[in-house]
Amino acid sequence: MSIFERSWAVTVPAVLAAFFLAACATPQKALQTGADSLAQTAAKAAVVTPPALAPLPEPVSLATYTRHVVTLAADDFGGRKPGSSGEQKTLDYLVAEFKRLGLEPANGDSYLQAVPMVEITAASDAALTLTTGGASRALEYGKDMVIWTKRVKEQESIKGSELVFVGYGITAPEFDWDDYAGVDMRGKTAVILVNDPGFATQDPNLFRGRTMTYYGRWTYKYEEAARRGAAGAIIVHETEPAAYGWDTVANSWTGPQLDMQTRDGNAGRVAIEGWITQSQAEQLFAANGGSYEAAKDRAKARGFKPEALQTKVTAAVRNSVRRANSYNVAARLPGSRRPNEHVLYMAHWDHLGQMIGRSGDSIFNGAVDNATGTAGLLAIAEAFSKAEQRPERSLLFLAVTLEESGLLGSAYYVDNPLAPLASTAAVINMDAIPFGGPTRDVTVIGAGASELEGLSCRTRTAPGPCLAAGVHAGEGRVLSLRPFQFRQAWCAVAVCQARYRRS
Ligand SMILES: [Zn+2]
Repeated sequence: MSIFERSWAVTVPAVLAAFFLAACATPQKALQTGADSLAQTAAKAAVVTPPALAPLPEPVSLATYTRHVVTLAADDFGGRKPGSSGEQKTLDYLVAEFKRLGLEPANGDSYLQAVPMVEITAASDAALTLTTGGASRALEYGKDMVIWTKRVKEQESIKGSELVFVGYGITAPEFDWDDYAGVDMRGKTAVILVNDPGFATQDPNLFRGRTMTYYGRWTYKYEEAARRGAAGAIIVHETEPAAYGWDTVANSWTGPQLDMQTRDGNAGRVAIEGWITQSQAEQLFAANGGSYEAAKDRAKARGFKPEALQTKVTAAVRNSVRRANSYNVAARLPGSRRPNEHVLYMAHWDHLGQMIGRSGDSIFNGAVDNATGTAGLLAIAEAFSKAEQRPERSLLFLAVTLEESGLLGSAYYVDNPLAPLASTAAVINMDAIPFGGPTRDVTVIGAGASELEGLSCRTRTAPGPCLAAGVHAGEGRVLSLRPFQFRQAWCAVAVCQARYRRS
């Protein structure tokens, strides 16, 4: 989930609009544009009367779209889990469709791009003990804490590592903020708050107010702790600033975890990463003679300094490790006048597979997320492949893998693009295409961050003035969207949602 959360019919005009876009912005320009727009316009809602859309080269077929959704979401695709037989069926289907449409393979003579992955499964006896003075307390795995290691190893541990409360765990020179100021984290374990000080204070002048920044994401927090040389990093879970409950934490970070293979086997990560519940954090700060709430108050004020706690942590995990490839699928339609420039359509093909141990229907079919997007990709490819006139720019149709495991397929693509990112004019991603019918209004998630945003009102199917509103909710999922990978690479990507106001 999800860029262009709209009806599939709405998506197609966006495709055409993309042809008129200039090439990728330079990093500086894109950054500047994004920052300015965010500051100035994100909170506003603009009413726009859109110009007429260019006609479609060929209608997108509803029957084709429906057939693809039904096929990809069928039980025998098993929920399309990477590494499963459902992956092979999905790849075979996508390749056969691209061939049938007469599209070129985009990776030399292959439609497939291998994405090397590693599957790490922690045993359920993962242990974490907090010791303050003479008193030790073992936290229960799954209930009080979830821990893992990103290091590709059979086992990993930390012993007697000193805890340091580092507030939000953010080093952000552009916001004049450093939660690690003056502390040497080597051998120590960071205790970190979720989200960022802007969300905590609701102050629009601090970070980006209610809009979560990249600094608020859990991924950043573990990365920064690793850069600081910490041995461990533990985030305190709270439902509102995280935008998901403890159940999501417990379900998402237990069981097999898929990751990309790296040269160093993730040796640069901290040894132990994890989450603890808010209740455990309250007990931790109480054991140190303070309170969690007071600590949070200090952390959201400018000038916060990291605080050494009297508590030490010992933690250990045992893993089973499996290496394999998953695959992105990519096809190209060469452009008529500017074949070296590309417009990229993408959707992730993967879903969650099956729930182990559940009786009855255990398949997560992923019809909406993201058989719809993948079907949209195929249906749009078909429309373009049948059109008499080719678009001026080349089109690249990319079905990525491992989205559900942390946007890994798209991240791999950004590092190993099949068309240069510098000449990729636009990226249009489809995730969970809704089925609510014609829509009048468009919500732009992360308003101000994309040059495509101005086209959002032109993509509607219902008439009337368009309300294009920026979204400010501090939801982690906004920045966990796959297109963010492309934003980091500075291509134009818009994140929109339909709002289903029809009149
Ligand atoms: Zn999705």
